[in-house]
Amino acid sequence: MTGTAPQFDDVSGDIEVHDPATGELVGRVRPAGPDEVDDAVGRAVAASRAWARTAPAERAGMVRDAAGALRELAEELARLNETETGRPYDDGLGGVLAAAGTLEQYAELGPLHRGRSLQGGWGATDLMVFQPRGVAAVLTPWNDPVAVAAGLIGAALVTGNTVVHKPSERCPHLGRRVADLVASFLTDDVLTVVDGAGPTGALLSGHAAIDVIAHVGSIGAGRAIAQAAAGTGAKVLLENGGNDPLIVDAGVDPVWAAEQVALGSFANGGQVCVSVERVYCHRDVAQPFLAALAEEATRWVYRPAAEGEKALGPLVDRRHREHVHAHVAAALAAGATAHVGGVVPDGPGAFYPVLSGLTPEMAILREETFGPVAGVRVVDDFNAALAEAINDPHGLAATVLTPDMEHAQRAWREIPAGTVKINAAFGGAPGGAAEPRGISGSGFGYGPELLDEFATTKVVHIAPPPAR
Ligand code: NAD
Repeated sequence: MTGTAPQFDDVSGDIEVHDPATGELVGRVRPAGPDEVDDAVGRAVAASRAWARTAPAERAGMVRDAAGALRELAEELARLNETETGRPYDDGLGGVLAAAGTLEQYAELGPLHRGRSLQGGWGATDLMVFQPRGVAAVLTPWNDPVAVAAGLIGAALVTGNTVVHKPSERCPHLGRRVADLVASFLTDDVLTVVDGAGPTGALLSGHAAIDVIAHVGSIGAGRAIAQAAAGTGAKVLLENGGNDPLIVDAGVDPVWAAEQVALGSFANGGQVCVSVERVYCHRDVAQPFLAALAEEATRWVYRPAAEGEKALGPLVDRRHREHVHAHVAAALAAGATAHVGGVVPDGPGAFYPVLSGLTPEMAILREETFGPVAGVRVVDDFNAALAEAINDPHGLAATVLTPDMEHAQRAWREIPAGTVKINAAFGGAPGGAAEPRGISGSGFGYGPELLDEFATTKVVHIAPPPAR
């Protein structure tokens, strides 16, 4: 997906948000124009000197208190997440709790984010010290809105930056509610929020007084932001879209492989940055694997899930459903076979059934679909699977299911992606932070390393004055 978010031509019209399960209007927001963006950035600049001078432990205490408040409101926020984006309540609740946990972690790590002392002359003091960058613009997506925003905002705040946040136009009420809540624990204007879509984001990221821009979102928006920053000198952090491959090697249990692929492709309706987007399956295991995947796909349902079934929410909106279905329709027209799904259902909302099927080489394998789609390509051997997995400009993540240690070792060394998972579609140890490769972005968007990104390093040399 290279830019499917609603792009409003200007910032004069209100943005409407509809419940993707029912189509009912949730609310409207008025996008911030040049004056409001300028005002928000100006307030953030004015607040930044005092915030940078606030003791790190004091800043961290405020962020920790905000995390506690987020935890207390988790159920309300998860319901709002579901109403605005269709994310199933339990998933949304997990996202809010993860957000609180992330704020707490950064509250712990912030005061420990220290520099180094250097070995200079006997009479001198030589240091490498971290300093805040200044004002951070934080632009966030809708698919995991609370956790992503909390991570970036938390890391920016504990390193002493003030923040202007623009949440996604697809969940503006949730975004504002979360940011206002966090801001209520901070000193005035340390965190401000602006509403709006791409044009408001462009005003913010092109503003001359912004020092660092953190964008989690689509590749198209990330590129526009990088171009804007080239003109202002702002530091840019981009965590953008992926087109993650998954390899099913010979010798794996086909039923287990099908469960992993279904989880990777269908969780959150396939609207996860590290969703499985393309599957390369070894010919030896293709037949039982495809049969198991078709059966597994029927367990993902968008009615209330019964025992043994998995809940699937609607897609975020009809515009996004059109994007997903266009990929699927093009694949079917070019000769792909749909084993399950692939038809737009009647009725309200933006539901889309999962699709598992066989695809020849085509666009659905080359671009991020961001929907509940498992497109499988059968290949002759592991070498062919690895070569096709590597031959792609994205570089977010990849998964390999294999019993062969040599294949596992080759895969993690050779696949040019920030994250490689062997024998698990999701998972990993706490604190893992990767740099995306290729067109998927640059810099650390998570983990302790995110603190380095929001800080700038100064070398200090203090020599004694000359003797009188
Ligand atoms: P998006 O880029 O359209 O929107 C994200 C934010 O950027 C929003 O606040 C939006 O208003 C703003 N924006 C859009 N155009 C802009 C512009 N020209 N200038 C400045 N700001 C602009 O992305 P989305 O549709 O909300 O999110 C889905 C995408 O995000 C997918 O591609 C997904 O893979 C990606 N994503 C990546 C990660 C990651 O960690 N790599 C995590 C979550 C989502």
